[in-house]
Amino acid sequence: MIKENIEAVQKRIDDAAARVGRTDKITLVAVTKNHPVEYMKEAAADGITDVGENRVQEALEKRKAFPDNHLTWHLIGHLQTNKAKHAVEHFDLIHSIDSVHLLQAVDKEAGKIGKVQDILLQVNVAREESKFGMAVEDFPAVCQQAKDLEHVRVVGLMCIAPDYDNVEDVRPVFRIAHALYEHMQSKFPSGQVRYLSMGMTHDFEIAIEEGANVVRVGTAIFGPRNY
Ligand SMILES: *Cc1c(COP(=O)(O)O)cnc(C)c1O
Repeated sequence: MIKENIEAVQKRIDDAAARVGRTDKITLVAVTKNHPVEYMKEAAADGITDVGENRVQEALEKRKAFPDNHLTWHLIGHLQTNKAKHAVEHFDLIHSIDSVHLLQAVDKEAGKIGKVQDILLQVNVAREESKFGMAVEDFPAVCQQAKDLEHVRVVGLMCIAPDYDNVEDVRPVFRIAHALYEHMQSKFPSGQVRYLSMGMTHDFEIAIEEGANVVRVGTAIFGPRNY
C-alpha cells in the first residue's frame, strides 16, 4: 500500500499547490518514526528521497540499513543538547532548534567535525504548552544569535500546528508562521532562508495553501504507528 499512499499524498500536494497557483518545489518528507526499515526501503524504492525521524538513536540504528546512503535525513523531533553530537553527524537538516542554548550546542559539535549544519528554527506559534518550539517574541533574538555562529546555517522555519477539531482553524497559525518566515528571509543573506516546514497528515494541504514548501507526512503514507 505504501506506493499507492505516496501517490495519493503526492496528488493531494499537487492539488493544494494548484489551488493557490504555486509551481515551486514542495518537498515531501516521509516521517518514518516507529516504522521498520523495510517500510523505509519500500518508500525509497517508490521515489521518496527525504525521511523524517523524531529520535536520534532510532535514526542511527535505521541508517545502518542504508550503507550507500542516498536519502536526505531530517530530524523533526525535539533535540536534547546531549544528543547534538550524533544529530550533527547524521542529519542533513535539523528542524527542531528552539533555543539559543541548543543552537550553540549544535554549532559546537558541528565545528568539531568541520560541518556547517543546516537547521530550521522551530516556533511555537500557537503557544501550546505541550509542544516544543520557541515563543514568537523570542524569535528575533534567536535569529540574531544564529547569525554569528560559524557552523550553523539557518535555512528556514518549522512549525507544528495544534490538533484542532476543525482543521480549518490551523490556517491562521500557518499564516503567522509564513509571515515570520518572510521576515526571516530579510534578516539573512539572500536565498539562504528557503524552507518553510509545516503540515502533517491532517493539515498538510492547508499548510501548502499557506506557503509551506516542506511537509512532514507519516500516517497518510505508512498507516498508524505502533508505540
Ligand atoms: C510524527 C510527526 C509528523 C508526522 O505526523 P503524521 O500525523 O503521522 O503525518 C510530522 N512532524 C512531526 C514533528 C512529528 O513529530
